[in-house]
Formats: sequence, C-alpha cells, structure tokens
Amino acid sequence: LSFGSCDLPQKLVQNLEATGYEMPTPVQMQAIPTALIGQSILVSAQTGSGKTCSYLVPIVCRCIKIKNNPQKPLALVLTPTRELCIQVEEQAKLLGKGLPFKTALVVGGDAMAGQVYRIKQGVSMIVGTPGRLIDMLIKHDVELDSISILVLDEVDCMVEQGFYEQVMQIFQALSQPQVLMYSATISKQVEKVANSLARDIAYISV
Ligand code: AMP
Repeated sequence: LSFGSCDLPQKLVQNLEATGYEMPTPVQMQAIPTALIGQSILVSAQTGSGKTCSYLVPIVCRCIKIKNNPQKPLALVLTPTRELCIQVEEQAKLLGKGLPFKTALVVGGDAMAGQVYRIKQGVSMIVGTPGRLIDMLIKHDVELDSISILVLDEVDCMVEQGFYEQVMQIFQALSQPQVLMYSATISKQVEKVANSLARDIAYISV
C-alpha cells in the first residue's frame, strides 16, 4: 500500500514522496484513514514510528479542503516541549509545501508578540506548548473556537510534567474538536485525559 492509493490530495502525495516517504508506516496506515473520517483516536506509538506524519496528513487534508475561513486556525497540536513543537512544524512545512497551509509556533523562548502577529495574519495550524498558549489565551491574544482538530502528542510526558490542568483549560476554549492523542505508554492517567476530552475513541496500537 502506497500513499498514492490512500485517496489523499495529489499534491500532498507528491510532498510525501519528495520528503522521502513512499510507504505509510504501520501507525500511519491505521491512524490516517481513521482520523480522516473524523474519529477521535488514542494511539500507542513510540517516537520513530512515524506518528507525527500520521496526524499531520489528516490535518493538511482537512485544512486544504475547508476554504471558507482560511484566516482562522483549524488544527491545534500540543506537545510537552519547545523542541518537539519545532520538529512538528518542520515536518508540517514539508507536507504543506505549495498548498494553502500556513503554520504558527506558540512556544516559550521567543517573543510572544511575533507569534501573535503570525496567527493574526492567518494560519491553518498552531503548534505549541500548553504554557505559552495559556499565556496567550489569558491575554485574549488568540481565539481557538475555530479549531476542529486537537492533537496531543506525548500525552504521557504531558501528564508527568503536570500539564493536565493546562490542557483542560485550553480544551475549554475549543468547540468539541476531533481529538488525536498519542502516547508511548497508555497509563490510567493517559486514559483519564483521553476520556475527558473525547467520546467514542478508537484505540490504535502498533
Ligand atoms: P516520528 O515517529 O514522527 O518521530 O517519525 C520518525 C521519523 O520517521 C522521522 O524522521 C520521519 O521523518 C520519518 N518518517 C515518518 N513517516 C515516514 C514514512 N512513511 N516513510 C519513511 N520515513 C518516515
């Protein structure tokens, strides 16, 4: 099975191939079709499994299909660290090359004003850490009611680092998004997060 046979936009398949991705990895084979039909998922997957691309492909698909309001972000990816956010955005740029798909980083360490400005210019996806995003929400610098896909990457690490309350606070600002959750380990805590964010969750493990 190749990406070309997955009913993805042709330009996206070209971008995947140009990045050197010819065949979907096992996690991509399971998560991409399930996410594309709007289902919320909890995926047990390690770094190196191709998990990032397994949520970025459905995000790019949705964002380039919905053209009615390109000014407002449709996808929000939360990760526990600045470094991971930067990597996710880099992959997203490769997949979205030449497509109407802009991204914004919302992480500590850089001035917030520049990040707010970029979002106001119009982006499809925000990638950020919970702390910085909360700061923006408190200052009313960002509106998240247009978000229709929420990704939580490394849920286990987020829980360990004490981000549970912040993630819940961010979730309150959203309008019932589809939720794509990824965790190396599925603990009771991780399941608690999953069940408080989504219903009818499909469990995927590779
Ligand atoms: P991740 O699990 O998202 O951290 O991805 C691990 C690595 O696999 C990254 O360096 C990706 O660039 C690469 N990768 C992701 N999907 C594919 C694919 N379908 N084929 C080959 N490499 C991939």
